[in-house]
Amino acid sequence: MLGKILFGLGAGLMTLVAICFRRGTQPALPSFPGEDLRRRTATAASRLAALEPSTRAFARAIISWARERGIPAYLGLTYRGAEEEVDPDTTALAPGAFGWHSVGRAFHLDIRENDGKFDRSAYAIVGAEVRRRGGAWLGDRTMISRSGKPFLDLAHFEYHPGFKKLVQYRGTALAKKELAAAEQRAAGTAT
Ligand SMILES: [Zn+2]
Repeated sequence: MLGKILFGLGAGLMTLVAICFRRGTQPALPSFPGEDLRRRTATAASRLAALEPSTRAFARAIISWARERGIPAYLGLTYRGAEEEVDPDTTALAPGAFGWHSVGRAFHLDIRENDGKFDRSAYAIVGAEVRRRGGAWLGDRTMISRSGKPFLDLAHFEYHPGFKKLVQYRGTALAKKELAAAEQRAAGTAT
């Protein structure tokens, strides 16, 4: 009898765990103090649309993957036009220089701890998964900024399979085509 009761309790518990786990695949995302979730969602959608299509699918998949693991990843900057100013302390590129953001093949993920600080350990987990999937993450390598300061580009990810480095891609017919497409998407004139 006791065995039966314990078995019943155990089975009930397992069902509860299973329900919670299933719910866990679409977790309610923790919001940050002062954030407007609706605005954030709309911004994320337009940022996603500005990405090169295969990079868009890649970013979407990695965000889902992270969230399924309880990592509150949000899409940050994606496409960046040549005229946009970048803080010289947080980029190695010269002003207006062609980079992976220019063609929509780079994206930032915003992953923070409750206190608002970037969550370094979560970035390392997501970075490893991005690399495993054929993307790039440079967030564990100290770089020297345009202003000459060491910095970590924790939030920056790229997707450009077949082109290990920017110099291999820059100047190719594909790069020109993708740059034109990225500018059209940004201008809202993509066909
Ligand atoms: Zn970046």
